[in-house]
Amino acid sequence: MTERRSPEHRIGIGASVPAAQGACLRVVGGGGRAGCWPRPIVESPRIPPFEWSSNDSEPNGTMMPNRREASISSLQRAAPWRLPAEVGSSGLVRTLVISAKSIGYGAIFLALTLVAIASAASGQPVKRSSGSDAPRVRGTAEAGAPAVAARQRFLELFARAYIPGRTGQLMVVPREGDFITRPDPDVEYMHGSPWAYDAEIPLMFVGPAVKTGVYSTPSVQQDIAPTLAAALGVSMPPTATGHVLPVLRPGFARPRVVFLLVLDGMRRDYFDRYADLIPTLSALRRRAAWFSAAHVNFLPTNTAVGHSTIATGTDPRVHGVTVNNIYDRIHRRRQELFAGMKPEVLMALTLADVWQLATSGRGLVLAQGSIDRAATPLAGHGACQPNGAPVVLVSYDETTGAWHSNPECFRMPDYLRDRNASTLWSSGSEWLHHRIDSPAAVRRSALFPAFEAGAMVAMIEHEPLGEDDVADLLLLNYKGADFVGHTYGPDSNELRVTLGEMDRNLSRILGALEARVGGDYLLAVTADHGMPSAPPERRHLAPAVVDLLHRKFDPQEKQLVTSYEPENAQMFVDEGRLSHLGLTLGDLARFLETQPFIFAVFTHDEVRRAADAAGPAPPAPCARAGTRVVGRTDRRPVLKASAGGVD
Ligand SMILES: [Zn+2]
Repeated sequence: MTERRSPEHRIGIGASVPAAQGACLRVVGGGGRAGCWPRPIVESPRIPPFEWSSNDSEPNGTMMPNRREASISSLQRAAPWRLPAEVGSSGLVRTLVISAKSIGYGAIFLALTLVAIASAASGQPVKRSSGSDAPRVRGTAEAGAPAVAARQRFLELFARAYIPGRTGQLMVVPREGDFITRPDPDVEYMHGSPWAYDAEIPLMFVGPAVKTGVYSTPSVQQDIAPTLAAALGVSMPPTATGHVLPVLRPGFARPRVVFLLVLDGMRRDYFDRYADLIPTLSALRRRAAWFSAAHVNFLPTNTAVGHSTIATGTDPRVHGVTVNNIYDRIHRRRQELFAGMKPEVLMALTLADVWQLATSGRGLVLAQGSIDRAATPLAGHGACQPNGAPVVLVSYDETTGAWHSNPECFRMPDYLRDRNASTLWSSGSEWLHHRIDSPAAVRRSALFPAFEAGAMVAMIEHEPLGEDDVADLLLLNYKGADFVGHTYGPDSNELRVTLGEMDRNLSRILGALEARVGGDYLLAVTADHGMPSAPPERRHLAPAVVDLLHRKFDPQEKQLVTSYEPENAQMFVDEGRLSHLGLTLGDLARFLETQPFIFAVFTHDEVRRAADAAGPAPPAPCARAGTRVVGRTDRRPVLKASAGGVD
């Protein structure tokens, strides 16, 4: 443990840890643009509450329109629900405010918002300022001031993930409590929205280096990589927009291993509702720095975007992974990001990339995930970055039931080659009366976490983890809650049983890790997104939504919408066809907003304008911009930034 460490391994706060504890404690407007801790947050009144009662996987297949009876009945809206108090911050509207540079832009936003509020108060839709796709506010019962503020916030969340050519043409937000999914029994439930059940995530840090406690300050996925980098004594590159969270003890010792665990599809409230079912995670929480207001601050809330943001510490509009998949209208094909574990779509360095470069490849990186779009961003670019080396990466192959990798960039350990998930159903083809006897189906059961944990334990035992003075990285996407949640929902017995098995197998992983390095590791636990609960009448199908548009605007050809996968919360529209029909994206958006299960629809132009208004992404650790020394620890200067920030 720490005794073996030479003094050089002790890290003073604030040296190579630019924005660690003590930095960025005060935010001063004007001047710089770097975001500081705590970020300025404006809290607006809550939008009308709802309540979830019950209970997504991964998308496959482009959502082309088809006709389903369910499409019509699904448009019938149920009575509003009420939101449980402990998860009620979803509706808490946090308007992301200004980088200081954009105070002028902020004023424009404010003016727009005020106009919208005034307009809503008078019951009149906002007049378009210019152009056909200017911001709109529906003249419905939801167009009160809180809804207007929520709408503006959601526009900014999309703007944080805006990249021309990758972002779709129409961004869709279902009404709170409603969700849109695919006609596939494996995805009865689908995330992707800004509402609490999708956007509120667990976040905790555990280990000797961490100051235990409950941290109520809002925190985001972008903060995780900078914080873990600080624990390693390095910093993320200027592409990062996140901040070092103030969890590290003064003079802490660099851990021998940093373990980043991403619980896919794990809603934060599971830690409360199912605390007794997850004793390992609950015990970790009790000795953790627990962030009670961690949330996703971009849209869509899905796997590829979440993992990429966690891994890079920056916004989707910087790292480039803005959706799970895009529609390439030039080649007229769907492109699944990270398919085949190809990391080139990721346009920013990850924590693993940074650590590999900082240690000239001596830092061991072991990455694993159960779908390529989660596993790959965690691993980073491996040997496919300049001066990179092939880090270990395995991802689950849902067609063969085996682990696989991309040898061009990564290394596949030989000892995992013979493992196959088919062993999971050798003693029976059913689990809780569901058939699980295929590599794809078994993922949606409580049997699968043991297979995931088995591979991670094997890596911990076979690789030279913690054996030298260079800290190593464990990066795990643990996917059970997502697979089972998509199919059976957050309130199901299936999910409860799966969480229990995930927890039991997590204790195996931690046991294997502690057998190597004792307690000398830093664990970070978080999630990429959550999962909605809803009764059947509030579940809507993407092809039905497309069909609505086609029946209204393109009844003959039905070619207007080229792709709509609801977890991306956006539609890809054939703009040539749109023009041919004499329509604008605004026409489509306005029509969709008349549907009772739709909260807001933004056009590509609206999102682009919001992104323009936000300005360039700020350089991350605020210590880099406008930082001054305000005090000293026994070893290093404590830095305090003097820059205003943007969330
Ligand atoms: Zn996910």
